[in-house]
Amino acid sequence: MSTYKFYEQVNKNFDKAAVYTRFDKGLLAQIKICNTVYHVTFPVRRDDGRIDVIEGWRVEHSQHKLPTKGGIRYSHKVDEDETMALAALMSYKCALVDVPFGGAKGGVKISTRDYSESELERITRRYTYELIKKGFIGPGVDVPAPDYGTGAREMGWILDTYRQMKDDINAEGCVTGKPIQQGGIRGRTEATGRGVYFGIREACNIKEDMKALGLETGVEGKTFVVQGLGNVGYHAAKYLTEAGAKMVGVAEMEGSIYDEDGIDLEKLVQFRKETGSIIGFGGSKELPNRSDALIAECDILIPAALESQITGDNAHAVKAKIIAEAANGPTTSDAHEILKERGALILPDTYLNAGGVVVSYFEWLKDIQHVRYGRMSKRYDETSYKKILKVIEGLSDRKFTEEELGDLAKGADEYDLVDSGLEETMITAYQQIVDIRREHNLTDLRTAAFINAINKIGIMYEQMGIFP
Ligand code: GLU
Repeated sequence: MSTYKFYEQVNKNFDKAAVYTRFDKGLLAQIKICNTVYHVTFPVRRDDGRIDVIEGWRVEHSQHKLPTKGGIRYSHKVDEDETMALAALMSYKCALVDVPFGGAKGGVKISTRDYSESELERITRRYTYELIKKGFIGPGVDVPAPDYGTGAREMGWILDTYRQMKDDINAEGCVTGKPIQQGGIRGRTEATGRGVYFGIREACNIKEDMKALGLETGVEGKTFVVQGLGNVGYHAAKYLTEAGAKMVGVAEMEGSIYDEDGIDLEKLVQFRKETGSIIGFGGSKELPNRSDALIAECDILIPAALESQITGDNAHAVKAKIIAEAANGPTTSDAHEILKERGALILPDTYLNAGGVVVSYFEWLKDIQHVRYGRMSKRYDETSYKKILKVIEGLSDRKFTEEELGDLAKGADEYDLVDSGLEETMITAYQQIVDIRREHNLTDLRTAAFINAINKIGIMYEQMGIFP
């Protein structure tokens, strides 16, 4: 059990940034606090007839924009403090990437491995029922999504439960990260990892920052280590590899492996599926301690598992020059100071892993609009491009082949638009943070990100007025 109080860690980062803003103490306190905390217990019948009491939470950190938004975590380590911290991070995250939602988070204290699929379904449906009963879910109120331990399957159960109980034309917008057939969106599964990649790419493209680290500009040729090969870690590693970076180390629950010649991601995933472990894969060597990959030699370290992984205990030994926080809260505030002292560039969670909620926002828009992206424009665009290509052919000796015509005249489909919207969002948000870093003469992107988030939320509060 970690000795770090997660919510306190988040608030320390908030306070560090708050001094650079113009808001009075009271308003800052209002931004920081969790507005509503719902704690629930309920019974669930096990397959063998026994009854388990399940504990869950839903925290709405800030309702300055509605709906509130954030995933639901299933983990035996979930507690109120963790859910509050994660809800707060969601508010700041949404503000940074201009997603018009307040922050929320849910947690159910179970180890998913201890339950069968039908037990998990009963838990999920009952938890959803409790949320509905107390007004903690709805397309305009609070919209859950996947997080650690949950995925599209659970989101499908949540939607179905909601639909059974509510006559709501926008019911599909009550949860995101759903299966495509149930109002989900193409590109949501990979969105967080894809966003992590875009964020790292942006950071690596800033010449002065790379120079200060003694690194070349660009992602290509850089080595990286990833902690956690779940949905986020896997996709981040996949896109980085495709861009020419080399995965040299992996940490998972069973231990750490390292191979300076590079580790093949797909083969490793297959190997783990077959053997239940990453240990013994290919030519890699097993490191002495379970999370030693965190302190292995590499350019980019990507903690993509849980909070409080890089702490005052191991931060001194971290060798990576770039810490890319794909997880929420992986670096404690004392570790942050140690890393900063050493001159490392920390890409903060509030920015770097926001891709998930960005694409959740696109999914929610699709659901309340009741139309798939690209449906109205794809064919129209293709016809227009073909007309232009015909004109070009007429003006030159060039005749396009059928294949070239297909390529050049491709209209954007849902995936293309989602991906492009995500890329644009991650680029713009990084630029904003870098500008604030410059404006305040900071060396620290986390503080810059918090300043940006506090400013955006603070202005909302000012404009809202305080009632009654
Ligand atoms: N659980 C994800 C996160 O921590 C996604 C939240 C969402 O899409 O609402 O950002």
